Amino acid sequence: MKKKDIILGLTIITVGLILMLMMKVYHHSEGNRIVIEVNGKKYGTYSLDENQEINVDTEYGHNVICIEAGKAYMKEADCPDGYCMRQGKISKKNQTIVCLPHKLVVEVNGEQHRTSKASDNENSASDIVPDAVVK
Ligand SMILES: [Zn+2]
Repeated sequence: MKKKDIILGLTIITVGLILMLMMKVYHHSEGNRIVIEVNGKKYGTYSLDENQEINVDTEYGHNVICIEAGKAYMKEADCPDGYCMRQGKISKKNQTIVCLPHKLVVEVNGEQHRTSKASDNENSASDIVPDAVVK
């Protein structure tokens, strides 16, 4: 009987912790994150709050995007010009790092930017269309 109580207690604590974690992740996803796109297609979304290295290996080449202290930068790239590695660190909304030879774009909060832009221009719905043509 006692063992059951302990298991029940642990379950409640675990569920509580998971809920807290989920809320934390949800909260973070609202703000600082980067979206990586390759050839116009979404490759992945990563939180800027978490120090990490993202290896992007595609048919175009190899890139390593590093997230450190809330900033993202191109740490490694085997593109011929290496220009992406000289674009510095990004952390503010809508800032980008572009690796043209690899068709790779790293954008801070890229997705949110597009959706909020669409809802901001309520009375000019036709203006949204050219956005889609850009790619
Ligand atoms: Zn590059």
